[in-house]
Amino acid sequence: MKAHTISTLIPEQELKERIAQIAGQISSDYAGGKVKLLCVLKGGVFFACELAKLITVPVTIDFMQISSYGSGTMSSKKAVIRKEPDDVLEGQNVIVVEDIVDTGYTLAALKEYLESKKPESVKTCVLLDKPDRREADVCADYRGFEIPNVFVVGFGLDYDGQYRNLPYVGALDFDGITA
Ligand code: 5GP
Repeated sequence: MKAHTISTLIPEQELKERIAQIAGQISSDYAGGKVKLLCVLKGGVFFACELAKLITVPVTIDFMQISSYGSGTMSSKKAVIRKEPDDVLEGQNVIVVEDIVDTGYTLAALKEYLESKKPESVKTCVLLDKPDRREADVCADYRGFEIPNVFVVGFGLDYDGQYRNLPYVGALDFDGITA
């Protein structure tokens, strides 16, 4: 692992406050109904758990995993579903919970996959958004924070498997150069 430092980008308290706002919005949007949070492993876990605790309509949680790879050019990426959801999604109000949307290919692939499962509705909820990096035409329905084009860790996001458990979001910096 290259030498690096981490500087706080979004403190714990700001995360808490914003997540409470999003949970409030979801609770009011789905008032009288129920939602299934579909957490995208592994990065979405911390965000999904915090949201789930604060949503006031009935909530169920399921998990899936997806990886996307470049296909030779930067103009497209191939997504591979690593783990399918366990539950039947047909007729459900699904909210996909992701850590971050970057190029947008992962979210685009997830939406396409989920539509084939015939849910009642699909919405997307991301903690972080890096709009400067967007290549696929996607826009999250619920979005925590817009961030600049830096590599971030913490609150579910990793660097080489580490730092997911940081309670804040930090920017990774290699030798004074932000990644
Ligand atoms: P996208 O398909 O939108 O380019 O990529 C989304 C995935 O890339 C995220 O779920 C996450 O795994 C990874 N990713 C994108 N930006 C970052 C970042 O700044 N830090 C970390 N740790 N992962 C990122």
